[in-house]
Amino acid sequence: MDQWPKYYHEKMETMDPENLRSLQEKKLKKQLTYVWKNSPFYQRKFKVSGISQKDFKSLEDLRKFPFTTKDELRESQAQHPPLGDHVAAPMEKIIRIHSSSGTTGQPNFVSITRHDHRAWTEITARSIYTQGIRPQDIVIHAVGLTFFVGGLPVKDAIEAIGAAFVPIGTGASDRVVTTTQLLQANTLHCTPSYAIYLADYIRSKLGMDPTKLGIKKITSGAEPGAGIPTIRKKIQEDFGCLLTEGLGNADAAPIIFGECPGQKGMHFCAQEFILCELIDPGTGEVLEMKDDAVGELVYTLIDREASPLIRFRTRDRITVWVSPCDCGRTSFRVRCIGRTDDMLILLGVNVFPSAIKDVVTSLRPKTTGEIQILLDRPGPKVDPPMKIQVEVAKDLSDLQPLKREIENLLKEKLVFKADVHLVPEGTLPRYEMKAKLIRKLYEE
Ligand SMILES: [Zn+2]
Repeated sequence: MDQWPKYYHEKMETMDPENLRSLQEKKLKKQLTYVWKNSPFYQRKFKVSGISQKDFKSLEDLRKFPFTTKDELRESQAQHPPLGDHVAAPMEKIIRIHSSSGTTGQPNFVSITRHDHRAWTEITARSIYTQGIRPQDIVIHAVGLTFFVGGLPVKDAIEAIGAAFVPIGTGASDRVVTTTQLLQANTLHCTPSYAIYLADYIRSKLGMDPTKLGIKKITSGAEPGAGIPTIRKKIQEDFGCLLTEGLGNADAAPIIFGECPGQKGMHFCAQEFILCELIDPGTGEVLEMKDDAVGELVYTLIDREASPLIRFRTRDRITVWVSPCDCGRTSFRVRCIGRTDDMLILLGVNVFPSAIKDVVTSLRPKTTGEIQILLDRPGPKVDPPMKIQVEVAKDLSDLQPLKREIENLLKEKLVFKADVHLVPEGTLPRYEMKAKLIRKLYEE
């Protein structure tokens, strides 16, 4: 790896935070003027809040501007088809349209111009390079390619780095294995759920040790798993590899944060394109970015033509670090705990499904690490005890002590009362994309 430059864009990645601040301020000012002129949606929003782009003098003034929510973007698209009137570029300038949801209901379109496409490729490549991908690497892409932003934009970025991109997609584990062997590929790009699934598949279906596959790096994203200590440990041991994670947002950019091999959280990699704020998700109050601060991540795009966002609420709940990293990058780092939408509240205590999975995975090999939370009624408020199904290892016979051990551990670590139901190995669903840790027992 040493023959390659240490950074993808050294000047931006090692810039003094004060200098970056003034660069972001300048670009935001220009962007607000552009948005005010070209986006009817933001003209309306600003007018309703009694504010205009002229009120922006310094970065401190950003907090006077209203938040943008996903629901508002959906509404904009429904009222002003096909793309919504938040879009600030004419159709002749738009070169690609992605979808930011695609799982349920109507797709929410995200459009980009040639200029935006260049920015996406730069940000995503910077994030992936930060994760340690270099030109000699062969990357097996075991993620879908169509429609969603984790597909084609990641291809563009890996090719921009100069690494070799191998589009396999999902639902093709045999092909992942044979192609990796035939090409002697060393890198796998997939969700953490899929990495766990693939290791099981290789062991049980092919009777092979996954460390023999030759994968030395896994770059993961799309769900919190790769940042959860017990899950990271399991995947790294399963494949004998280094696991780093990335974090993006379909409405903002495909991969915005990338973790360096030092594994101390994901570095912010969109320095001159996105401005981040940390807020209290309840009050909307802006929080100081300092070590161990926790809050919701908010994005303002400061260099976007087609689909601009001012103070967009991501619903991603993150922990922040600003202290220096050994790699020399000066940007802040984050770990994503989960989405505020997934958060459950028991007697005033916030609980994330990913944290429950972490606790249960810590009891491997007695458990398989697979869980499912059963909800009788819509959250986030849950009446204790929380019903959780936990998979146990095949050869375990005396189950009562394990049930108690898990319940006690959840009480001790996450401060809530659980009612654990142990189920045999292989009972709970496995996922090739994002895992669904909550099962709704009620009609929606
Ligand atoms: Zn670092």
